[in-house]
Amino acid sequence: MSLPNSRRQFIQQSGGLLALPTLLSASTRLAPAAPPPVVLPAPDPTGQPMPELEQPLPDAPDQRIGFAIVGLGAYALNQIIPNLGGTQHAKLAALVSGNAEKARTVGKAYGIAEDHQYSYDDFDRIAEDESVDVLYIILPNAMHREWTERAFAAGKHVLCEKPMAVTAEDCQAMIDAGKRAGKQLMIGYRAQYDPYNLRAIELVRGESKEIGEPRLVFTEHGRMLKPNKEQRDEWRAQKELAGGGSLYDIGIYSLNGARYLLGEEPVSVTANYREPSEKEVDVEEGVAWTMNFPSGATANCSSSYRVEQAKRIFVQGTEGEVTLDPATDYYVRNLYVKTKEKNTQLIIPRANQFTAMLDEMALAARENRTPKTPGEEGLRDVKIMQAIYRAADSGKKVTL
Ligand code: NDP
Repeated sequence: MSLPNSRRQFIQQSGGLLALPTLLSASTRLAPAAPPPVVLPAPDPTGQPMPELEQPLPDAPDQRIGFAIVGLGAYALNQIIPNLGGTQHAKLAALVSGNAEKARTVGKAYGIAEDHQYSYDDFDRIAEDESVDVLYIILPNAMHREWTERAFAAGKHVLCEKPMAVTAEDCQAMIDAGKRAGKQLMIGYRAQYDPYNLRAIELVRGESKEIGEPRLVFTEHGRMLKPNKEQRDEWRAQKELAGGGSLYDIGIYSLNGARYLLGEEPVSVTANYREPSEKEVDVEEGVAWTMNFPSGATANCSSSYRVEQAKRIFVQGTEGEVTLDPATDYYVRNLYVKTKEKNTQLIIPRANQFTAMLDEMALAARENRTPKTPGEEGLRDVKIMQAIYRAADSGKKVTL
């Protein structure tokens, strides 16, 4: 019996590591009492070379762009602050809150010293805080304009949550303030950084024309409004702070999704409302609207404050369909494509829309360049949402 000439060949020929003591004892006539030799596991039992992982190295902490979070509510605490840690270029640098105790607790958890914690009253001294490059505004909608203007006045870049503001006039004022300050303004449209939504865009309007010409889009977004303080939707139920109802809060995903999937702007809209059914709510409960696009495509969209979690986008083309369901969840997205030839679900590993969005803001700030979802993108949605309300109020088609 010839001895194998390499360790891997040896393992393959012997049928695996367990056969090693038997083979050795037969060929070398070791005494039966000798202990079995120690065998280290092969680095790769399949014999395949390890795949190379291309992962850019994150910036060192002192090179990262510092973010101050303005408003320590549910979205800031549960999604944004934890995801900052997974970025390549961003870091948490400061906190702005109306609740000093909360800011201290969060500061302690994330290593933000008290001299980088600000109240709304002493906010303006943040201008002197060199650790802060970007202010991320995560306040009730009606406060976005004022805080964006204050952030620009302090000489910082701004990332502002959706909806950008309550009126198109407010949005324009925010854009102008950024231009005057020479700083960047980005809107937190996380879905536009989501690898699943980006893949869906490619399927719908990429060169391969996977589903032919897109003709119909259906988008639905809904959640149950819980309009009291304990359940944290108190401000969402008040027009003064929310600006609008389900449309401004979640219907905006239906609207923005239809626009980015088709890659064109609607030319007209018809709509109808569902009024609130609870007396403490003074914003609309639901809206259904139809948008017509220059290509001839139509989008039927809806939003509701009286359903349990709807986050669905469906595009029907002349040769197939693309479904995202859920489309805009924080961590779960399912993408399906169906044509005559195939019916498949696409899986994209490690897809994190939050880190992609935060890194885009960090790079736009570092390079002082327009980000992918600038203020102008937020303004377009607010203009259309105002037109949707006009169409619902008048019962007539509104031209955009
Ligand atoms: P929360 O009510 O959970 O938090 C809002 C925070 O704003 C409060 O905790 C408070 O922070 C501060 N605040 C200041 N003034 C007021 C006021 N008068 N009433 C209430 N809060 C006030 O809201 P969310 O975090 O859910 O939403 C904040 C923004 O983020 C909204 O614009 C919303 O549309 C957007 N959002 C975006 C999401 C996305 O997926 N892109 C998801 C969820 C929200 P403090 O106590 O620190 O002062």
